[in-house]
Amino acid sequence: MIDTANKRPSYELRELLAEIMPSHRATHGKSNSYEALISFQRQLAKHGWTAPAWPIEIGGRGLDVTEQIACDTEFARAGCPRQIAVYGVNNVGPTIAAAGTDEQKKHLLGITSVSELWCQGFSEPDAGSDLAGLATRADLDGDHFVINGQKVWTSIGTWATHCMLLVRTDPSASKHKGISAVLVALDTPGITRRPIKQINGESEFAEMFFDDVRVPSTALLGPLHEGWRVTMTTLGFERANVVSMAGQLADEVLEALHDPRLASASASLRQRATHLYTDARNLTWLGQRSLASDSAPNALPGGTSSIIKLAWSKLSQHVAEFRADLAGMALTAGGDVEAEFSLLQSRASTIPGGTTEVMKNIIGERNLGLPREPSR
Ligand SMILES: Cc1cc2nc3c(=O)[nH]c(=O)nc-3n(C[C@H](O)[C@H](O)[C@H](O)COP(=O)(O)OP(=O)(O)OC[C@H]3O[C@@H](n4cnc5c(N)ncnc54)[C@H](O)[C@@H]3O)c2cc1C
Repeated sequence: MIDTANKRPSYELRELLAEIMPSHRATHGKSNSYEALISFQRQLAKHGWTAPAWPIEIGGRGLDVTEQIACDTEFARAGCPRQIAVYGVNNVGPTIAAAGTDEQKKHLLGITSVSELWCQGFSEPDAGSDLAGLATRADLDGDHFVINGQKVWTSIGTWATHCMLLVRTDPSASKHKGISAVLVALDTPGITRRPIKQINGESEFAEMFFDDVRVPSTALLGPLHEGWRVTMTTLGFERANVVSMAGQLADEVLEALHDPRLASASASLRQRATHLYTDARNLTWLGQRSLASDSAPNALPGGTSSIIKLAWSKLSQHVAEFRADLAGMALTAGGDVEAEFSLLQSRASTIPGGTTEVMKNIIGERNLGLPREPSR
């Protein structure tokens, strides 16, 4: 009999996935449809695995980064679908935990139980890298905000039930100053959502339109006009999460190293595999070291998270290109759908959470002490 009390969490997860994945595959195959993703996420929630990295007091398992990476390995090994609750778990939830009122913290349970699915409404048609230029307005009218404007590229925006929205609450203040963060239920009247169709066939993003949307003033997250500071916390979490994503990347390369096609591949392709694996492992260790060296969980010191985000995004593209080269003719014949999907998907990795150029600006300014861009 297994001693579950002393079992490593990743072993427990391995057993759970061995139990739930066969029936998931039997019903959904390898589909990335909303139905497939939410069904998998609910299975994890049922067994208390939505947010293993969160502290135990707020519904997590309090796993350290090493154990998180071990768990990510288990998810990859079992061929699990991606986790649709990721934006609530990795970004919004930790921000609510840090800046929310007691009432708002009730959403944390909604996130772990997957009764609420959260997205982030930050980017706008004219405010992406220059996020502080956002124009969506929220005007106070008695005890309500009235929101008008448009968001774009909202991941899982089509299916989310709630959104952490960035709005301009003081148009007369300088652009970083007059912004607030609000928590919005997406079934509020006046909200229209339109899915964006992508080249890989998916509609992972939505555009969201807000027309005289009334939300109670208690929806304000953190102090009024302090949304920029609140957002920087969220983006900090987003970049810190690439540490565990680097671990997944190393696993992906490791899997490719066992691909029977590699034995008959060219020497240069085999060399690329070992280089990529080394790079992915180095990146994981760099992330682990920098997390361990900081007292606050999930917080990376200085511009380290930007270095890791930059390195991860480039590496993930190189790994996808490697897998496509390994697939060779099978790719064009439609015989390696996963390699094709990952090649198309990887093109986006240098954009969210700060583009390559923006990361380089941050590293230059914060780590190297170079002069700031005059326009910012
Ligand atoms: C996979 C994915 C998921 C996303 N999910 C979300 C989400 O959930 N919520 C959300 O709000 N947004 C999301 N986004 C949007 C994302 O945050 C923006 O696309 C990103 O911030 C870039 O903004 P932009 O697209 O407007 O490009 P722009 O800011 O217009 O940039 C265009 C080009 O100019 C470069 N550039 C811009 N400014 C500078 C500068 N100062 N110096 C040098 N070069 C510069 C950029 O690097 C880029 O190459 C997502 C995007 C992707 C790809």
